[in-house]
Amino acid sequence: MTVTVDTAKLPMLLTALRLPTFARLWPEFCARANKEGWPAERLLAALCELELSEREQRRIQRHLAEAKLLPGKTLDSFDFAVVPTIAQARVRALAEGDGWLQSGHNLLAFGPPGAGKTHLGSAIGHELVQHGYRVLMARTSDLVQRLQTARQDLALSQEIAKLDKFDLLILDDISYVRKDQAETSALFELIAARYERRSIMITANQPFSGWDAIFPDRAMTVAAIDRLVHHATIFEMNVESYRRRTALASATALRDKGDVADDTDPQEKEPATPSSDIDT
Ligand code: ADP
Ligand code: MG
Repeated sequence: MTVTVDTAKLPMLLTALRLPTFARLWPEFCARANKEGWPAERLLAALCELELSEREQRRIQRHLAEAKLLPGKTLDSFDFAVVPTIAQARVRALAEGDGWLQSGHNLLAFGPPGAGKTHLGSAIGHELVQHGYRVLMARTSDLVQRLQTARQDLALSQEIAKLDKFDLLILDDISYVRKDQAETSALFELIAARYERRSIMITANQPFSGWDAIFPDRAMTVAAIDRLVHHATIFEMNVESYRRRTALASATALRDKGDVADDTDPQEKEPATPSSDIDT
């Protein structure tokens, strides 16, 4: 006996139920099920599983877009060999998330320009998003600007609360907070609000001793550092600029291949540094 089923409304129903994968795949899957005589349970389970896995993928894509990470700056493109002070296994473990994000543990990366701090932050962010966490990466001065604007509108605590949805805030280049920004305590309030609850990663060109210009006064600088380091992993990346290193390596490779004229003064093969290394 052939039963005819009215499928005309199915696309509308599936859209109303927010099941885009079902809506896309049911014609093909149902046709196959009918042809191959699948039990109804098998058809249902197959569509449900695909809907769920595609939903997960869509979620990760959304969280990647909101995270503002640097495309391509991932752990796979990070060469750990040039930063011997950083244990790859430790970074990979952190990048999986787990306990440290739940307890508001922080990550601090110190090193000169070009050491790979921003790359490392972005890379950890990419991994965490893949593992289901929410991340936001920003230049510290941009984020402080946003907080200051909120403060002028008497909405600083709401703005800080909005950032609570992110398991990790990556504040890139804290040393570039401008003098006028340092005159308000917006950054301190963010750090204090997240203390022991929500994680922060900070990258800095300057050691703590140079942080006085970032906060309104010495006492607040000490209080901020105290909160940041209480539960923290510190990456000391005191290595030569990666840009400079790779520029030198390619100049050497060219010379070894004979592509560079022999009469060139070796001094001229040195790339222009360090001005090109300064990130702003
Ligand atoms: P920083 O933030 O410390 O100034 P960046 O992370 O911006 O340095 O690194 C400068 C450039 O060098 C970027 O293009 C980055 O991808 C690259 N780089 C730095 N360190 C590494 C590394 N260990 N492996 C691969 N690329 C690196
Ligand atoms: Mg940087």
